Amino acid sequence: MIGFAELNIGRLILFVFVLTFMGVAETLWPVRVWEEKRSKRWMFHIFISVFNTVLTRLFIFGPLLFWIDFVGAKGWGISRWLGLHGFWEIAATLIVFDCFNYWWHRWSHVIPFLWRFHKPHHIDTEVDVTTSLRFHPIELLLSYGVKAIWILLWGPSLAAFMIFEAAITAYAQFHHSNIDFPDPLEMKIRWIHMTPRLHASHHTVSLRTRSGNYSTIFLIWDRIFGTLKEPAVKEMELLGLEEGRETDLSVPAFAKAPFITS
Ligand SMILES: [Zn+2]
Repeated sequence: MIGFAELNIGRLILFVFVLTFMGVAETLWPVRVWEEKRSKRWMFHIFISVFNTVLTRLFIFGPLLFWIDFVGAKGWGISRWLGLHGFWEIAATLIVFDCFNYWWHRWSHVIPFLWRFHKPHHIDTEVDVTTSLRFHPIELLLSYGVKAIWILLWGPSLAAFMIFEAAITAYAQFHHSNIDFPDPLEMKIRWIHMTPRLHASHHTVSLRTRSGNYSTIFLIWDRIFGTLKEPAVKEMELLGLEEGRETDLSVPAFAKAPFITS
């Protein structure tokens, strides 16, 4: 049986591969012109990513693995009651957790306490693959706390959980990229997935378009729950938030952002 170490190495390889692939793609076919220095964006966001990785390794993974094991040993969770195994268990976990993730993201926008910690991600005035690395450490800790509840409710296997984690990271890297597809291809991808165009529209200063397109992997959640917003050219011209525009690549400003009310 594949253990945690192998799954984690697989996840790391996929992370580096998709980051590099999308980084090259947006260098060759950028849809928006960068105003900030790209090297500065990469350094700043990689610093955050490394910090968050160390944080999760030190404080999250141990208890989380114990929790997945414990819930499994007790036989708790809807997935186990349904008797799901192998491929079907992994596929169902991906779909169910992606739905949970949709709601977590939506609540992170509408509940003021959660928005404080999601806001630093949105303060980025440009959106490219490096934006997918940009999450406040407290948002990360809160999200793993919430995932502990998902694990209790659903009872995923360790493999399914790790595959879900790898998948949401890879999809986030994809849809934050500064690329765009020709309309026919864009529409085909939208049958199933969130696209870079729709997600850039979620990063507008304009609250109208920002209040939608919350899905990560499957676009169906925005369709079912009525939050699919068609991007508008005018609103897409200004990404980020009104606040923090001058300091979007400053470590102290990023760290303090949740505690500054606007
Ligand atoms: Zn968001």
